[in-house]
Amino acid sequence: MKVAIMGAGLSGLACAIILEQQGIYPTIFEKRSRVGDRFVNMENIFNILERPVSDSLNYLKDTYGITLKPISEVKEITAHSKNRKGHLKGNFGYSNIRGRHEDSFENQLLLKIKSQIIYNSQCSYNELLKDYSHIVIATGNGEDAASMKNYTQDLQVSIIGATIGGEFNPSHISTWYNNDFAPKGYGYLVPFSQSRAQISIAYPEYIKEDRIDKDELWSRFCQEVQEDVGNNLNITDNFSIKGYKVGICKKPKINNTYFTGNCFGAIMPAYGCGQIPAMLTGIYAALDICRKGSYDELTKPLRQSYEDSLVLRRGLEKLDNDKLDVLVSILNRNLTSRALDKSVEFNFLKLISKFLKPFIRD
Ligand SMILES: Cc1cc2nc3c(=O)[nH]c(=O)nc-3n(C[C@H](O)[C@H](O)[C@H](O)COP(=O)(O)OP(=O)(O)OC[C@H]3O[C@@H](n4cnc5c(N)ncnc54)[C@H](O)[C@@H]3O)c2cc1C
Repeated sequence: MKVAIMGAGLSGLACAIILEQQGIYPTIFEKRSRVGDRFVNMENIFNILERPVSDSLNYLKDTYGITLKPISEVKEITAHSKNRKGHLKGNFGYSNIRGRHEDSFENQLLLKIKSQIIYNSQCSYNELLKDYSHIVIATGNGEDAASMKNYTQDLQVSIIGATIGGEFNPSHISTWYNNDFAPKGYGYLVPFSQSRAQISIAYPEYIKEDRIDKDELWSRFCQEVQEDVGNNLNITDNFSIKGYKVGICKKPKINNTYFTGNCFGAIMPAYGCGQIPAMLTGIYAALDICRKGSYDELTKPLRQSYEDSLVLRRGLEKLDNDKLDVLVSILNRNLTSRALDKSVEFNFLKLISKFLKPFIRD
């Protein structure tokens, strides 16, 4: 058996770890010159979005022996809408680092593998097919799946972000729901540390490009953050992504080719969270290759979560600023904090998608 993994990101490296546990050493082909060779950013894992598991990082450690160290737990969330503010306290999940940083999740995973990584790889899927019995596509995008007509794209997102200096509590994140600067999307602040945080807006690219002035949105958002957080924004770094595709493959596996991570459909459309599904798809592909599970079966709950999350996205997109004010007011209630806490194990996405489905038909 010869296994090739295209992409040394979350899903590819998680796949390699599990294969190695079973004595199989894949060859990993990575396009960039090293693991995580991209901008540094903060990402979140929200337990409520990863049901039925109540604590995703503990689950990865206990079930698959993969230990990952986050930057912080998330214990407080402040949600802002145009005229309201909601505050939640509980055990909501984690903040972790990505990209070039030595503690990024991809660099933590890299330390756990011995398999060969070929950097600066230009090898295409078709070239790898000639030499390998199994191919895991873990490239962080649906391009290869789309070229095989095995991918449905549901939305395309713009993300703008920056690192700011100031005083922050690492376990406290903030979010903004305001169509004036994040149309049909959201803004967020996630601290790297007590003195640095990342701020971002993410919004779907529905409105014709010429009607959106992204610099204007960004400057309105920065103003809002400054007012709400009370810090002077001392910006040290910027990033901007256009056309980030969110979609899902039609078949998770074709012959001995596995579509994992974002290529499977890991990014959940409502909030863009894809890290845990990405790692799980890598793990499940490895289990299938080792004949310890069926990739088609194991990925079924992730496909369901994707579909539920898409319903939630379509529902959120229908809310104007007044309705967002109502939503954020509801968050202020103790009951909401308790419901979102990790100790309560109801499946939020499933429940909300059932509720919203009748309202989102146009
Ligand atoms: C700005 C931003 C913020 C995000 N925030 C969150 C968040 O808060 N929470 C969350 O859970 N998720 C978040 N996500 C989504 C999450 O990062 C992804 O879902 C996850 O990283 C996908 O893992 P992956 O293995 O599919 O891809 P990646 O981890 O991106 O790895 C793909 C790897 O493949 C390599 N590659 C690409 N093409 C080729 C090729 N042809 N050949 C070889 N190698 C190739 C790349 O260089 C890269 O190393 C965010 C994404 C972005 C962009």
